Amino acid sequence: MFELLTTDGSSKARLGRLTTSRGVIDTPVFMPVGTQGSVKALDPRELQEMGTRIILGNTYHLHIRPGLDILRQAGGLHRFINWPLPILTDSGGFQVFSLASIRKIKEPGVEFRSHLDGTLLFLGPKEAMEIQRLLGSDIAMVFDDCPPHTGTPAEVRAAVERTMRWAAECREQPRAEGQAVFGIVQGGSHAELREECAKAIVAMQFEGYAIGGVSVGEPEAEMMKAVEHTVPFLPENQPRYAMGLGTPAQLVELVARGVDMFDCVLPTRVARNGTAFTAKGTISIKAGFNKADLGPIEEGCQCFACRNFSRAYLRHLLNVGEILGLRMVSVHNSYMFIKLMEDIRAHITAGTFGDFRRDYAANYVPSEKVLAARGETAVGGAG
Ligand SMILES: [Zn+2]
Repeated sequence: MFELLTTDGSSKARLGRLTTSRGVIDTPVFMPVGTQGSVKALDPRELQEMGTRIILGNTYHLHIRPGLDILRQAGGLHRFINWPLPILTDSGGFQVFSLASIRKIKEPGVEFRSHLDGTLLFLGPKEAMEIQRLLGSDIAMVFDDCPPHTGTPAEVRAAVERTMRWAAECREQPRAEGQAVFGIVQGGSHAELREECAKAIVAMQFEGYAIGGVSVGEPEAEMMKAVEHTVPFLPENQPRYAMGLGTPAQLVELVARGVDMFDCVLPTRVARNGTAFTAKGTISIKAGFNKADLGPIEEGCQCFACRNFSRAYLRHLLNVGEILGLRMVSVHNSYMFIKLMEDIRAHITAGTFGDFRRDYAANYVPSEKVLAARGETAVGGAG
């Protein structure tokens, strides 16, 4: 399923190729997030035009709305949302532990109340795999226990043990035809727990491995450490996925640490506030300095928004509340993350990733929010 093509000489960055029944994905890859069965504000044609090869769907949200009956009648998630390329579905573990109000964690899963209307629901390894089988995703994720980064060592250990037991149960569940399943490594920022969990999950032989328990509000340095503590225990010849990360500058650093796959809600989430990502950091399109700027969001950017519209026009659209404004910032931001991965792949191929990484870090100015949070909290948050 995964072919490792090249490893960078200056770092752990890797060039790979992931083959699924719905298409081949070059890695490192960014996967736009379609939490509710839609990458917010973008349609499938736009996503494909900007080079998207795989998107994310969300078990927890789709299970609650529109519900499995509708998805079953539609013939699965791909048909329901009219997306012909690969889909990765998360298992719902992250959402159960972050959104829902948990009533009871039991051995077979979690009893919780929907964040929407308080309905009592149950999700465990068996249910999560069954839902993902029905959704028909190309890559399914195991159901895991994602503890908060403020969890005590005892709580993180309990989460790791539960994650390992649940992974073994997920491994035994029936799958959709051609569906790959990825294991998830938990363990917070504890090196020994990460190692123990990684070794146990790898021994279960999944098609790929994810680093979970990141993007849960932890400091950036802790997030990097969680990845560094996990990667050495993952097999070379299988894909590695860091869940829910990160800013462009963080993605470059995570690639350098040997991660192949990423998903993050940031490009579309910040777009809805009128914030655009550029290679030099984020800018507010609504800011006064864009009032008469007839240039694009980013000079040289080949996205549809930058090829067609000026900052001044987009600022105007945002100010008067026209939907096109936030759609176009979403187009630019999503393209920017996809293109970053293309650039990274080209530099790994050319043997120039080390220089690219150094220049990127030097040019990218983190937002005030990120700077303020540096050492305190990392930005991010999975969808
Ligand atoms: Zn653009």
